[in-house]
Amino acid sequence: MDDLEYGARDERGNWTPKQPAATAPLFVFPPRPVQLLKWLPSYFLPYNVIFFVSAILWWVWVVPPLEDMRSLSWNWTGRLFIINVLAVLAWYFVFELRLYIQRAQGTRFKYNSRFPSDTPSKRFWFESQNTENVLRTLLSGVPIWTLLQILVLYGFANGWGRLIDPGQNWLIFACLCLIVPVIHEFHFYCIHRLIHTRFLYKWVHSVHHKSVNPSPWSSLAMHPVEHLLYFATIFYHLILPSHPLIAIYQLHVAGFGAIPGHVGFHRVELGENRSMDPHAYIHYLHHRFFEVNYGDGLIPLDKWFGTFHDGSKEAHSRMKERLRNNI
Ligand SMILES: [Zn+2]
Ligand SMILES: [Zn+2]
Repeated sequence: MDDLEYGARDERGNWTPKQPAATAPLFVFPPRPVQLLKWLPSYFLPYNVIFFVSAILWWVWVVPPLEDMRSLSWNWTGRLFIINVLAVLAWYFVFELRLYIQRAQGTRFKYNSRFPSDTPSKRFWFESQNTENVLRTLLSGVPIWTLLQILVLYGFANGWGRLIDPGQNWLIFACLCLIVPVIHEFHFYCIHRLIHTRFLYKWVHSVHHKSVNPSPWSSLAMHPVEHLLYFATIFYHLILPSHPLIAIYQLHVAGFGAIPGHVGFHRVELGENRSMDPHAYIHYLHHRFFEVNYGDGLIPLDKWFGTFHDGSKEAHSRMKERLRNNI
């Protein structure tokens, strides 16, 4: 594919899309029904459908029936941890293999022309962005993800939450499934703003921002405190009337869904003339400029609070002005 039809490359080889980044037409006033209808399929496809199906698989095959989770045993908790590890390895490796190891599309559509493995840096453990990121994902990311998952499943089994019956309360069940990505966006925006405060940035969030040129394994490369805050999104399901399957879905949106913003490519080629939009641009701009795009654009929170950067020169001037005035 010719990426120059979609954007331009500067003298360093970095690629920028022609089309500025846009937030979803979901929470806009006045409503834009035509735009909303055009956008709607991308709300489901491909990511949220994949994560919902994976949550069903976990609920049916990976975790035992709710009554068996009334007590903690290595049997089900250990099995859940191992399967979470294997699933994370497989899911992240698919993107890493195709785009960064095989380099199947070279630097076509790649925002930053350099591949992290070509530029070892002392900032990272073993001078390797990938090695540190994989280790942080596996040593703290997946264990904390699994720990919170076990806690909430154990909680549901012991009557902590407000468990609904999908058969009787199918409408609430369906509505909750639909708003899981919205809950994720709201929660992510809130904790993200929190960890950009001076103290927490220095001691916690700067770990994630070491990847200025993010790649798939940057997605869950976080300080353990950030992992805890990030995956705490599952606790909404102990407060709302909910169901363990939806709680698992919420975690899959967080855990597997961290990848889109960190792919590093604007489009992922699927063949000669086919490609998909991985929704990477908004969060790529966050990794590049730090104090913009705290959310992923599903709720236009950054627009409401004046921190949205769409990649254009005008947005860049606005950001500089804001930072000069220290707002
Ligand atoms: Zn990130
Ligand atoms: Zn950040």
